[in-house]
Amino acid sequence: MAASSQKSVAPRRKVTRHRGEGQWAVGHLTPLNSNEQFKKDDDGLNVRTRIETIYSKRGFDSIDPTDLRGRMRWWGLYTQRRPGIDGGRTGVLEPEELDDRYFMMRVRIDGGRLTTRQLRVIGEISQEFARGTADITDRQNIQYHWVQIEDVPEIWNRLEAVGLSTVTACGDTPRVMIGSPVAGIAADEIIDATPALEEMKRRVLGNKAYSNLPRKFKTAISGSPLLDVVHEINDVAFVGVRHPEHGPGFDLWVGGGLSTNPKLGVRLGAWVPLEEVPDVYEGVLSIFRDYGYRRLRNRARLKFLVADWGPEKFRQVLEDEYLKRKLVDGPAPEQPVQQWRDHIGVHRQKDGRFYVGFAPRVGRVDGATLTKIADLAEAHGSERIRTTVEQKMIILDVEEDRVDSLLEGLEALDLTARPSSFRRGTMACTGIEFCKLAIVETKERGARLIDELERRLPEFDEPITINLNGCPNACARIQVADIGLKGQLVLNDKGEQVEGYQVHLGGALGLEPGFGRKVRGLKVTADELPDYIERVLRRYLKEREDGER
Ligand code: SF4
Repeated sequence: MAASSQKSVAPRRKVTRHRGEGQWAVGHLTPLNSNEQFKKDDDGLNVRTRIETIYSKRGFDSIDPTDLRGRMRWWGLYTQRRPGIDGGRTGVLEPEELDDRYFMMRVRIDGGRLTTRQLRVIGEISQEFARGTADITDRQNIQYHWVQIEDVPEIWNRLEAVGLSTVTACGDTPRVMIGSPVAGIAADEIIDATPALEEMKRRVLGNKAYSNLPRKFKTAISGSPLLDVVHEINDVAFVGVRHPEHGPGFDLWVGGGLSTNPKLGVRLGAWVPLEEVPDVYEGVLSIFRDYGYRRLRNRARLKFLVADWGPEKFRQVLEDEYLKRKLVDGPAPEQPVQQWRDHIGVHRQKDGRFYVGFAPRVGRVDGATLTKIADLAEAHGSERIRTTVEQKMIILDVEEDRVDSLLEGLEALDLTARPSSFRRGTMACTGIEFCKLAIVETKERGARLIDELERRLPEFDEPITINLNGCPNACARIQVADIGLKGQLVLNDKGEQVEGYQVHLGGALGLEPGFGRKVRGLKVTADELPDYIERVLRRYLKEREDGER
């Protein structure tokens, strides 16, 4: 008895075994969680064979659960949210209770580069296999919903026949590489990054040397002075600059990322010439694979390693262990001359023709519309289309005398190249319609919000970003928007839980980036949203100082 009471009062030394962060490069090769385990058990890329030979033939119920919730992402497939489950139950249900028997499929569009032929195929697949769905994401991808496992091999056949792919569109892999949508054509371009982007794709897509990363790896590259690829929030980014001695090249950034623990990327102070970009890219990617934290999923992004190491050590490891040579010091990018970076409107190309950027609402289009856009572009002599990181699109290579007719054709499709600030600057993530993590609806609400603000504030023509997320993640970049809206359940006047948003104000990207301030306690119900934003904007118009955003 005495012994037992003594035991109960004596401070117990906590015995812990230091397991490190699960970094391969320092010898932690034993998987420390279930994600690391399934990746070690079988490479995610291998699931393709099972989809083609087993799952598509025997149906949804034949899919191995680890493939269903894990490896299928390596080929751009997630189960979508089962309809009818409200946001109040998100997070309290087991993952399998949220799974629908249909899939979201993401088509990677590296650099946002599409031909009209590719766009037409994307549109046809949407109509035939995805109930007409096709959303433009904020990373230049196209996303389908309602895809059945039986149809996946045929969808791949059709995509791959025109040079498109879903490989590593999701999963712990090198995701789509964002590129300037006007690479090679913009008159003000510092450098065309297209050859580097193509080489980076060639080296890593489908390459098993890079198919087991600690988590996702996001890439951006642009030679545009408009800083048009949200480089600050990517794991690695190459930003066009002119070196005073060496000429045009790229400034190297690492460690950006949003989500629940947002960090802006940091400059390594290095200038990279075009032909060396792929080596440097592979070096940074390899550091992430080898030194990235694998123990906890929520610390497994490159940004945590960069925050711990600092830019000097990161650059030194990159140079000494991976490149085996020193990088050249270089200048920072310059502040863009204009605030909108989205290429909306009519712009002269370097070859004298024009490109026309236009705005769907919150990235929502559909297969039939995409097919019509391809037809319209071709009817105006263009065979090239681009998607942007603002969920918008661009038609390239239009002769001057065809521009007006193209603009009319776009308007007839309810796609305008002269959008209001609200239509131009509002983005929304997938939200509760299809996303299993969502708490609230976003797409419909974002589209209605645009229409309502256009009606209430027709005079407002300042650059503004209004970004809606369906949950605390950051798929629509709420932290760096002028008005960021984070979906959550809130209490209404009657004390009832309803859909609403936590408000973040004053975020920005560019050379003076920053995260929006969470306005203390400021939550608005979905119904109050137009009133709230109208109040904020009217006050901004009244009280702003000269040049104040
Ligand atoms: Fe889903 Fe949340 Fe991302 Fe929106 S922000 S797509 S709700 S995970």
